[in-house]
Amino acid sequence: MRRAISQPLGESNRRLVLNHLRRLGVASMDQLVRVTGRSHPTVLKWLDSLERSGDVRRRGVGASSGGRPPTLFEYVADAGHVLGIALEIPSVTLAILDLRGQVLAREARSIQQLGPSDAVLRELHELVERFVAGHLGGERRLVAAGIALSGFIDRDAGLSLATPRLSGWREVPMRSELERWLEVPVVLNHHIDALTQAELHVGSAVGVDDFLFFDVGYGLGIRAVRAGQPLVGRFGNAGLIGHTTVVPDGRTCLCGNRGCLEEYVSGRALLRFERSEVSVHDEDAAIAAATLRLFDAADAGENGEPREELERFLAIGLANAINTFEQPRVVLSGFAAAGGSALQARMAQRTRALLQPTLAAATEIAFSRLPRGEAGARGAALFALRQHLPFADPLVVTAPKGGQEPESAREPIAAAAARTRTPDTAVAGRREDHP
Ligand SMILES: [Zn+2]
Repeated sequence: MRRAISQPLGESNRRLVLNHLRRLGVASMDQLVRVTGRSHPTVLKWLDSLERSGDVRRRGVGASSGGRPPTLFEYVADAGHVLGIALEIPSVTLAILDLRGQVLAREARSIQQLGPSDAVLRELHELVERFVAGHLGGERRLVAAGIALSGFIDRDAGLSLATPRLSGWREVPMRSELERWLEVPVVLNHHIDALTQAELHVGSAVGVDDFLFFDVGYGLGIRAVRAGQPLVGRFGNAGLIGHTTVVPDGRTCLCGNRGCLEEYVSGRALLRFERSEVSVHDEDAAIAAATLRLFDAADAGENGEPREELERFLAIGLANAINTFEQPRVVLSGFAAAGGSALQARMAQRTRALLQPTLAAATEIAFSRLPRGEAGARGAALFALRQHLPFADPLVVTAPKGGQEPESAREPIAAAAARTRTPDTAVAGRREDHP
């Protein structure tokens, strides 16, 4: 059941009250009158209606400011759940979020049988069913789901057109399959968009509407975000910088071309440095481990050459992307973020050296602080949540519970910039666990 966006005035007041209460978590009537700008009778009428529909419940009384203590109202965040799936074959990450966008459960799995697409789908179906049943059980109140896919997609048709690491995968109707399994509306997006959404909501881009997301995974992906909106492209891969030629007649790439950037800076490139022969199921773990070994060895004065190559081409990729979009604010995600604050400083310096002074001076490179798999599933679920609650401002889903109104829903850009420049708080140290 998809909700229409245009609504009569009464409905828009209802949504206004609900959206503010969702943002605040808990609030008194006076607070709601203040933030909505509506009259007491209007707010009361819609609170009554929302209480009857189960979207809002009473939660005791607040502190008195002299008179009768105010009744508190609470947004019922567990009135429904959304499911997020990040599928980067063979890796699958699943997450369940409540209606305020909080992650309630998550799980990382791997597809074992990498054969024909119907076999892969069967296995995925079992994983999804088990996860949903295990975490929602009989109380199943799934209202929507989102899936994020790597490769080429047709977002409107709900198709996964092609995916890396699985050559027989063609035009798989992923959205309709999931809708049949789960019996809820499903939204399909590119994996990089899900990662970008997660950065906007809970990561290094909170409060930042314009930035470049640069992800070094198995391959290389970027997303330019302007005014909070990503530039996506016809098949989901706008900014497919990984397949731009940086070395004429260079190494042969998966795409068939030679000398693609991705062959010099990506998880695949790292594995080649190590000459690792690992099964496709172990590749992501092997890439993460290879990254740590690479930077540890280079710190110890060994194996400097691979690191030098990786950093040189990473700087070229970053500078090319910054030039293409004239966007000097970058969030760098993926395996490279494991390089820690020392790498962050080197990459900023090396990238600036390739840019003209005006852009160089404005260049800021923050590292993602989010675990990549969870970020993909969370981002996929956030798209579903946005479709289910089209009136809700997605950037406030993580406002703290407890009735305190944040000073501003959006952190000022300068504050975010200052925060992302502070290595101790903003950078995922390579020997530390992610939060
Ligand atoms: Zn290529």
